[in-house]
Amino acid sequence: MSEVITKNNHPPKVGFVSLGCAKALTDSELILTQLSAEGYQTSKTFQGADLVIVNTCGFIDDAIKESLDTIGEALAENGKVIVTGCLGAKAAEDGGNLVRKMHPSVLAVTGPQATQEVMDAVHAHLPKPHDPFLDLVPNAFGVAGIKLTPRHYAYIKISEGCNHRCTFCIIPSMRGDLVSRPIGDVLNEARALFEGGVKEVLVISQDTSAYGVDVKYRTGFWDGKPIKTRMLELVQALGDMAAPYGAWVRLHYVYPYPSVDEVMPLMASGKVLPYLDVPFQHSHPDVLKRMKRPASGEKNLERIQRWREACPEIVVRSTFIAGFPGETEEEFTHLLDFMQEAKIDRVGCFAYSPVQGAAANDIPGMLPLELREERRARFMAVAEAVSTAKLQQRVGATMQVLVDAAPALGKKGGVGRSYADAPEIDGVVRLLPPEKISKTLRVGEFTKARIVSAQGHDLVAQPF
Ligand code: SF4
Repeated sequence: MSEVITKNNHPPKVGFVSLGCAKALTDSELILTQLSAEGYQTSKTFQGADLVIVNTCGFIDDAIKESLDTIGEALAENGKVIVTGCLGAKAAEDGGNLVRKMHPSVLAVTGPQATQEVMDAVHAHLPKPHDPFLDLVPNAFGVAGIKLTPRHYAYIKISEGCNHRCTFCIIPSMRGDLVSRPIGDVLNEARALFEGGVKEVLVISQDTSAYGVDVKYRTGFWDGKPIKTRMLELVQALGDMAAPYGAWVRLHYVYPYPSVDEVMPLMASGKVLPYLDVPFQHSHPDVLKRMKRPASGEKNLERIQRWREACPEIVVRSTFIAGFPGETEEEFTHLLDFMQEAKIDRVGCFAYSPVQGAAANDIPGMLPLELREERRARFMAVAEAVSTAKLQQRVGATMQVLVDAAPALGKKGGVGRSYADAPEIDGVVRLLPPEKISKTLRVGEFTKARIVSAQGHDLVAQPF
């Protein structure tokens, strides 16, 4: 079969914009892997593409606006646009599709995790360049596929959807209930990543501690051996697999259920990074109830204390919402006290902002924007004081640092991260030029470094 050549006389080119969170990023990677396997090329500009795919985010109003604006730009500059991702699944006020309502001329709209539907739409509007019998078909779920993250770290999505119904969140209405990936698939993907040189695997989902709940922790198979579809077994296997490569495994979106205690020995022994991203969102039991948060009945202060006893190195990262509807000054003070006592290492905080379609919009007691913002600022002042004091304690210590940037082999220094820093959301370790002339720094390699000072959210270190 002859190759399809477009009107511009080149193999078909697709422009791709990936917006949103790490989960959306993995969807983008799957689509790009499939496009590349079928011989499509990518274009860095809208004008240079034969068609544009926009992977959207629909989480908060700002993200929705950014997604709609990007679709508008792509339509203006290119004209042929396929929309996928969370916003694609969102309904407009009249019940129709929001994207179609705002941009009726888009070619196709799909929800998230819809690689096949997106590819069907691409095929319909921009035919495949190769003979399908000769196609290089990538393995399912992105094994060794295209990564949008730098080559040395990668996200692994272990499940889709969520069984909870937090009142501020519309993700379950867009992504559906929890569906765990087969554990054998997840481990195969991890193995391909480590073999391909990835030095840090970041486990993501909407609720990592719930992995396998939907399949009743079914026994799957990997490498010919039975293994339960459960967080503990998964983390253990990932840790074992990472060890010969000297690679890191980092856990995100873990809820403080008692079962998480079982992971502490794996962190204490260095099998997985002693780092836990636990989105607490608030501390006051009544606010947590209004939020309908998972594990809202847990005694979180005691739990964090126990984690620190079992694994003194542990770094806890969390996100919070200030000014949730009905939040009283007393409830907010509870949150400040919690922060001071729990000494959460890394913190993000949003002032509550209503999300269209979220149940929280019907909760009485919406606070004025200035008060929500003021509480956010007060919370962040406490959180930053805690974080700064913790970073200061590291001065003088030696840490292992994964190098993310090192121009000229690090002769002028570089930027890296320790186990305490997840990419993009936490601080970094600023590396000074090595003292030894023979020492080089390379992206994707580890170096030992002595911490010499703390600056804001970052550390400054001397590599050796
Ligand atoms: S746990 Fe809550 S916030 Fe997270 S995805 Fe599920 S419903 Fe949304």
